Amino acid sequence: MKKKSAKKRREKLQKKVDELHGYRCYHDDDVEVRKGKYGLGVYAVRQFLPGELVFEVTGQLLSHENYHGSNYVMELNENWYLEPTIPAAFLNHSCSPNSELVQLTKYSLGLVAICNIEPESEIVFDYQWEPHEGTPQCRCGALNCRGWVVAAHAVHKMGKPNKKEKKK
Ligand SMILES: [Zn+2]
Repeated sequence: MKKKSAKKRREKLQKKVDELHGYRCYHDDDVEVRKGKYGLGVYAVRQFLPGELVFEVTGQLLSHENYHGSNYVMELNENWYLEPTIPAAFLNHSCSPNSELVQLTKYSLGLVAICNIEPESEIVFDYQWEPHEGTPQCRCGALNCRGWVVAAHAVHKMGKPNKKEKKK
């Protein structure tokens, strides 16, 4: 009983956070975070040309030594991870990406358009994950979808994706 009411209270308070502070509905003149087919994603507000900086990705800096990485962590350099803040934290993976990450400063990455990106389209990049326990199946819907959210060079290590697997 207690657990249930605590959960309810959390939901209510989260709603308040969303209404008052809008962390999860980020938007500026370039991009916005909103709900897509598979949950929240980052969408272009305006057109981006190939080679154009979409935004700077900043976040919490974590050393490789003391941290083994989360699903969303990005590699800053050989010694440091970057756990991205909003909006980058909501970027989804695609096997057919329209952007990629580059090192921009000592403390940040840059998300750069690799093709024309029209307003309203979702901005996605290739996570290039190494296979790990619980590697998710990919639902990016691209014609060349690899079936798993893993790097192209590692697809051969994965089995056949189960087409019928339901979203959890
Ligand atoms: Zn895919």
